[in-house]
Amino acid sequence: MELLTHEQIKELVALRKWLHQNPELSGKEKNTSARLEAFIKKTRPEKILTGLGGYGVAAVYVFDKEGPTILVRADMDALPIDEVNNFDHRSQTEGISHKCGHDGHSTILAGLAIALQNKPLAKGRVVLLFQPEEETGQGAAKVIADEAFKMIRPDFAIALHNLPGFEKAAIIIKDGPFAAASTGMIVNIKGASSHAAHPEQGNSPYEMLAKAMMQLTDLPRKNKDQFKDFALITIIHAKLGEVAFGTNPGKAVLMATLRTFYNDDMTLLRKMAEDTVKELANKFNVKIEISYTEEFPATINQKELVSTIKDIADTTGDKIIEIKEPFRWSEDFGHFTSRYPGVLFGIGSGKDSPGLHNNDYDFPDDIIPNSVNIFWHTLEKITQDH
Ligand SMILES: [Zn+2]
Ligand SMILES: [Zn+2]
Repeated sequence: MELLTHEQIKELVALRKWLHQNPELSGKEKNTSARLEAFIKKTRPEKILTGLGGYGVAAVYVFDKEGPTILVRADMDALPIDEVNNFDHRSQTEGISHKCGHDGHSTILAGLAIALQNKPLAKGRVVLLFQPEEETGQGAAKVIADEAFKMIRPDFAIALHNLPGFEKAAIIIKDGPFAAASTGMIVNIKGASSHAAHPEQGNSPYEMLAKAMMQLTDLPRKNKDQFKDFALITIIHAKLGEVAFGTNPGKAVLMATLRTFYNDDMTLLRKMAEDTVKELANKFNVKIEISYTEEFPATINQKELVSTIKDIADTTGDKIIEIKEPFRWSEDFGHFTSRYPGVLFGIGSGKDSPGLHNNDYDFPDDIIPNSVNIFWHTLEKITQDH
């Protein structure tokens, strides 16, 4: 029996297009989740868990002999981006569209469900997890924290992300750090306002804000020796006072994204960034409050799983591209790899494809069968080896 029949591939493409037409934002994947649940129900899993960490759905497949539990994760949220494409399956919701290919990732997982029914494994247990809220970095952590997740207890976790800029269906992989850790830092600054004619009577945080923007940006470069690897701070937003020409501002907000390849470098970078703004606040006699949001741990790939996938690609003839540097973007799959041996790999979505989050991006359906194939063989190999 083949992993997927021609008919089943057509059914999957129709599912992918339906998901593309009906995108939902992070944390609001209600219809997406219901549609996927209905789809995988037909593949007769042992159990389906719903409402995991929000709209998460997990289907559990148990095979004849005892073996390890492997979690395969796909994300399913869309983005607040207006689609500019005009094809039939374009987004029907204004201002929201699947611009990261999570419609494709979910479809691949649905395809894997069919493949596991067509050709069951000999051993082990497989959990297919449709995860909500990836784009905001909330979903993975919420699913893991969910009481119902306790029954899943995976021994391994695997996932993929489509990657424009690489040839279609090529497997992009690396052991160790694969995607960066990142954290959003918010600094609320409070001085004292006064009449614009009398700035000397107030305390505008403008100088503290300007210096903080410069010093935070320079910080990773100036302290390069203290980091194991790459570190970066990008100022993403700043606001000083209000638009009121008669007022000398009394407050400001500064936001920055911190990035590193290693989690301990992130701890260090956060500490340095905090020290920098605290020092400036003291110097300019303003009060500050620091908070963090959208925290993604680094995605760290296990060496053994990386060689498993490389071996499979050798036998299936799929092209392997081993990258030397991790990607600078982040993936909330890092929450899984920081708890379980895991691997996240890329699957090329075409050298000429628009980039992820571009308003004309669309997931290429022709990489669905290959992706299902690589997942299925990885599951088989892991269960054979353990
Ligand atoms: Zn994305
Ligand atoms: Zn994505």
